[in-house]
Amino acid sequence: MKVACFSTKSYDQKSFDLRLTKHGHHFTYFEAKLDKHTVNLAKGYDAVCAFVNDHLDAPVLKILHEFGIQAVVLRCAGYNQVDLKTAKELNLKICRVPAYSPEAVAEHAFAMILTLSRKTHKAYNRIRENNYSLEGLVGFNLNGKVVSVIGTGAIGTAFCKIALGFGCEVLAYDLIENKELKAIGVKYLNLDELLSQSQIISLHCPLTPGTKHLINKKTIDQMPNGVMIINTSRGALIETKSVIRALKSKKIGYLGIDVYEQEEDLFFRNLSEEILMDEQIARLMTFPNVLITGHQAFLTQEALSQIAKTTLLNLDELEQGSELSNEVTYSE
Ligand code: NAD
Repeated sequence: MKVACFSTKSYDQKSFDLRLTKHGHHFTYFEAKLDKHTVNLAKGYDAVCAFVNDHLDAPVLKILHEFGIQAVVLRCAGYNQVDLKTAKELNLKICRVPAYSPEAVAEHAFAMILTLSRKTHKAYNRIRENNYSLEGLVGFNLNGKVVSVIGTGAIGTAFCKIALGFGCEVLAYDLIENKELKAIGVKYLNLDELLSQSQIISLHCPLTPGTKHLINKKTIDQMPNGVMIINTSRGALIETKSVIRALKSKKIGYLGIDVYEQEEDLFFRNLSEEILMDEQIARLMTFPNVLITGHQAFLTQEALSQIAKTTLLNLDELEQGSELSNEVTYSE
């Protein structure tokens, strides 16, 4: 198939180019994000390959359909950026990479926890300035702490196993309980109970209308003072203004985010010569106990390799008209 690949970075191109010869597909790589201004680039292709911040809303999908695009293959697990209802009405197939490396994301969430709990971000800068003082670097042990996971799917499961390895007491909340996790010591609670008992909370549920702003003033008030919140899932799970307020009052003791509600205008680009106009992320950066990474939790060699393999498999199945292993469809 002829594929227009949007939001492409050098590492995406490299991992796809390594595998393309085994498949009959032809990729054209565009750095541009897919939206109403760039959608014309997709003219003349059979399929579009897209990523987390590409716009796959109704107007863009309708134009893709008019161009004769048959399918959108997502290089990610989440699909909250796609208007699935419109895609279904247009008979436009949407495929994703359901699990490329859950461990990559779970390990990054843990890297954030360890950085915040042991202040290695501060130590790194101090030593480079020839400052070997330990004042202000007192951390805390993870062993014995109550660590909670919201969403125990592929990533949440990998995260629970790491937390158990550190000797944490692991609590979980999900709409569906995972028997394997229960058998190894994870305790499921309802959301209110979990929030009130957690010293560290890591978010691993998808962004849906039901989970948007799951972390808000009301839910933060239920948490113990000094709680650590980690979000490697989707930015809008957190209501940023409530989190800023709770950081100022010290209700939240630590915040680690790999995703941000307004990330679309910032992440995946070098804006170092630009003026930062986003007041909320600017405020977040002023807190010494906030760690921000730019949606890189997935970014390991293993994950990139699996993303390319599954995406090419999705395209093979589309071309052959066979059953689609990784299709996502609209359901009421
Ligand atoms: P998954 O589908 O395997 O698991 C999601 C889990 O969340 C499921 O067990 C589901 O039952 C649960 N869930 C759904 N609604 C819920 C709710 N209202 N409350 C509690 N739990 C709920 O997905 P996954 O592969 O584990 O990925 C989780 C999320 O991580 C994705 O949706 C995506 O947004 C994010 N992600 C981020 C990165 C990154 O680089 N930062 C990479 C991959 C995925």
